[in-house]
Amino acid sequence: MTKNPVPRSEHVNRSRTVEQLVVGKATSDGAGVKLTRVLTQSLQRRLDPFLMLDAFGSDNPDDYIAGFPDHPHRGFETVTYMIAGRMRHRDSAGHEGLLENGGVQWMTAGRGVIHSEIPQQEEGVMEGFQLWLNLPGKDKLCVPWYRDFAAADLPRLVTETGVAVNVIAGESHGVSGAVTREATAPLYLDLHLPANARFTQALPAGHNAFVYVYRGVLSIAGSMVPAQRMAILASEAQADGVVIEARSEAKALLIAGQPLNEPIAQYGPFVMNTEQEIYQALNDFRDGRLA
Ligand code: MN
Repeated sequence: MTKNPVPRSEHVNRSRTVEQLVVGKATSDGAGVKLTRVLTQSLQRRLDPFLMLDAFGSDNPDDYIAGFPDHPHRGFETVTYMIAGRMRHRDSAGHEGLLENGGVQWMTAGRGVIHSEIPQQEEGVMEGFQLWLNLPGKDKLCVPWYRDFAAADLPRLVTETGVAVNVIAGESHGVSGAVTREATAPLYLDLHLPANARFTQALPAGHNAFVYVYRGVLSIAGSMVPAQRMAILASEAQADGVVIEARSEAKALLIAGQPLNEPIAQYGPFVMNTEQEIYQALNDFRDGRLA
């Protein structure tokens, strides 16, 4: 059910500024799915606890039809947000689900899953995002967890300024998101802003935060942020949140989280704290102990 509670205002006395605008890197993954890697490995430290953000969007089936056949993950969580399109997920923990138009799939790989993500359409637009969220070392080998949220099940609110917000994780204007996590305290909002609308969101000072604009143009503390750009928000001690203004009708993701401040060792789909743990993951995968 779509919830439309009366939104509580978010007071922001001083907005964070834009530290850097990032252009994603065109790449392909899986069996040849074309995508833009917005948050790349070189930004993992800066944007801790987030490890990756991929944006995909195409109306050419050749760009997505092959999907992501069976592959493993260990040590973190994947959050897939499907703006448009249909994708079927199956994993070795016995989970299966259809992710479509506006739905979210949250998967905690923990000690390991092998899964596939296969498009269920042969034409039309497929557009969405996959975010990787790290797990603290103590939870990296936890039991895998999985949930699908249809668009209608996502907590949603409309601010007094007309901004529609899907609260995928965290809390905004008094509305709690679909998922909460203690260690990383992720905030994941999808904002739909009418032209000239203003949106405020309080952010804890120590949390790393970024905005990815996927339609239109935003302005944050005097900096213009056009579509297909990620604005890394400065971690200013005096700032207590972010104020976002739409220069046109715009859509954007606002993502923030509490850094883990732990070593990050990544080898492809495995993200652990040490190289030794990566070798262990590779051995476990090879010997069939991952799933
Ligand atoms: Mn995957």
